[in-house]
Amino acid sequence: MSFQNPVFIPGPTNMPEALRKAVDMPTLDHRSPLFGQILHPALAGVKKVLKSENAEIFVFPSTGTGGWETAITNTLSADDKVLAARNGMFSHRWIDMCQRHGLDVQIVETPWGEGLPADRYEEILTADTAHEIKVVLATHNETATGVKSDIAAVRRALDAAGHPALLFVDGVSSIASMDFRMDEWGVDIAVTGSQKGFMLPPGLAIVGFSPKAMQAVEAATLPRTFFDIKDMALGYSNSAYPYTPSVGLLNGLNMACGMLLDEGLENVFARHYRIAEGVRAAVRAWGLELCAVSPDVYSDSVSAIRTPDGFDANKFVSLAAEKYGVAFGTGLGEVAGKVFRIGHLGSLTDVMALSGIATAEMVMADLGLNIQLGSGVAAAQDYYRGNQASSTKAAA
Ligand SMILES: *Cc1c(COP(=O)(O)O)cnc(C)c1O
Repeated sequence: MSFQNPVFIPGPTNMPEALRKAVDMPTLDHRSPLFGQILHPALAGVKKVLKSENAEIFVFPSTGTGGWETAITNTLSADDKVLAARNGMFSHRWIDMCQRHGLDVQIVETPWGEGLPADRYEEILTADTAHEIKVVLATHNETATGVKSDIAAVRRALDAAGHPALLFVDGVSSIASMDFRMDEWGVDIAVTGSQKGFMLPPGLAIVGFSPKAMQAVEAATLPRTFFDIKDMALGYSNSAYPYTPSVGLLNGLNMACGMLLDEGLENVFARHYRIAEGVRAAVRAWGLELCAVSPDVYSDSVSAIRTPDGFDANKFVSLAAEKYGVAFGTGLGEVAGKVFRIGHLGSLTDVMALSGIATAEMVMADLGLNIQLGSGVAAAQDYYRGNQASSTKAAA
């Protein structure tokens, strides 16, 4: 595997050199005032990236999965009811985690490739006149299928039903790469990690709690120790952690937020959209289909591409790695062997995306698929030439 090539997995993503350097720090005493100078700006930066005025931000040495556990264990009690749709591997795993914590999950089975059914949520919430449902779970961007869901519509469903349930959003593969509005969408807990839109190595769970979510913590009795946000909040009030923080990663997080805000969040989202559109133009030119069923659910951070019936999509991923030293994503769960994924989030430019598209063509040709070499590259080139970035500050 070559370390020169960019990766095209939907996380961990390519790291800008400046962030690699920011993470690589000499040891410093995490109980000294120096640590506060890293911690507090990093928390403030995350809050801006989440577009929130009032959220409390917590960052754990963990990953996105630990962020789910933080959300659940701090706000719920055994047998509490939660509502969730299953439309891919990540929503499935979040549901599984809830069940392992003894929660009663009402699952709305949704075809893989479709977005969250906000209308079904509304019906179910309206029927729940006793308000037994405590939390609605929503996976903003299903990384397994390349499907984005409409979180504003989920909020409208809650409001239309007049239902007080909390809204938890998994934004692990959307936050810092696709439009995300914690306050405007009334998100009560937002969950992400360091290794996707934030362009850092894996190792941090990043969560935001709304004031309403903070209130729910008082009554929640699920066991929690490592992920207890009250211990964490107490630590923060002394510019410290209840245990040893990942100082280098937090330093990187501070700088990553600075880079994102400096580029401008709207420019970051526009760059992801533009790069994704080039990839989608290539997919069309190849005559292949996305797993995502319609343009309104196309993800700007990852594309899952269906391969022809009878073709094992895993072969694509292994040959790309073995022969060309380039990493693409495999299919997960229900779509294993049926799709391969091109991750296009984080630190990426048009030029990097073109190299991934060109590699994908070589691999498909090697495997005997009916692909015209250069067809996808040309389609993406046309798109990129005609849709230049307004900002030249593309993170790279
Ligand atoms: C990557 C991902 C996760 C899991 O995050 P980890 O950091 O691997 O624990 C959860 N949800 C979504 C949507 C993801 O893309």
